[in-house]
Amino acid sequence: MNTLKIDKITVKVNDKIILKNFSLTIKSGEIHAIMGPNGTGKSTLTKVIMGDPNYQITKGAITFNDKKINDLKVYERARLGIFLGMQMPMEIEGVSNADFLRTALRSQNENFKLYSFIKELDSQIDKLKMDKDMIHRGINEGFSGGERKKNEILQMHLLKPKVVMLDEIDSGLDVDSLKIVGNSVMEYYEKEKPAILLVTHYQRLLDYIKPNYVHIMSDGKIVKSGDASLAKQIEKEGYDKIKETSTKVQEEIK
Ligand code: ADP
Ligand code: MG
Repeated sequence: MNTLKIDKITVKVNDKIILKNFSLTIKSGEIHAIMGPNGTGKSTLTKVIMGDPNYQITKGAITFNDKKINDLKVYERARLGIFLGMQMPMEIEGVSNADFLRTALRSQNENFKLYSFIKELDSQIDKLKMDKDMIHRGINEGFSGGERKKNEILQMHLLKPKVVMLDEIDSGLDVDSLKIVGNSVMEYYEKEKPAILLVTHYQRLLDYIKPNYVHIMSDGKIVKSGDASLAKQIEKEGYDKIKETSTKVQEEIK
């Protein structure tokens, strides 16, 4: 059992506070979906968990299995098994997808076997319906938005993380690709039982990846948590109504 605990963190970027006193605990086998309007800090949350140096924690702690990881570098967190599929995956020329994955796996596992690596890579590329020759191209070089998202999922399958964060993995995907990606994430979930943190705007992704918890974020905080039905309610009513009622509840508490 792995536990990622975000304990009352305040996060700043360029002297602007984005997350305020933010808490969330995610365990193996749990799927948490985070929804919320643009600019509320959803990507910031995933980046600060991954250790992006542009995002500073000024208060609070992030722990992984009770060990504080606030000061660990991105690669150290990756080695612990934390993974981020980014909202906008970057293009890295000159490093092929295959070299990148092989190097990452070799550094993670001293019993790395080239033959099983190639076999698994081929099988996942087939399942994700990706172009076979992309594996020898530079990372995301000339890839469409949807191909980049599939490439993030391919990396997830090979690196086998314990905590999977997917930031708007559905954006840029056509309906067929959305189904492939959604089912692929669920297949990984069934096999490895990771903790999953899913950022999305749309209920349609949650038709494939079924969350145990749905959290609505607004202005750097979780304003409401519920089960999968909360996402359906958002789809029908939008965020404003939720914000209105949660503000009312907060005022009543005061
Ligand atoms: P979301 O993913 O919920 O749409 P983000 O976490 O990307 O929101 O952004 C939250 C806020 O933080 C936005 O106002 C955004 O402009 C700001 N922000 C995020 N990253 C940076 C950055 N590197 N530099 C300056 N402002 C940033
Ligand atoms: Mg975002």
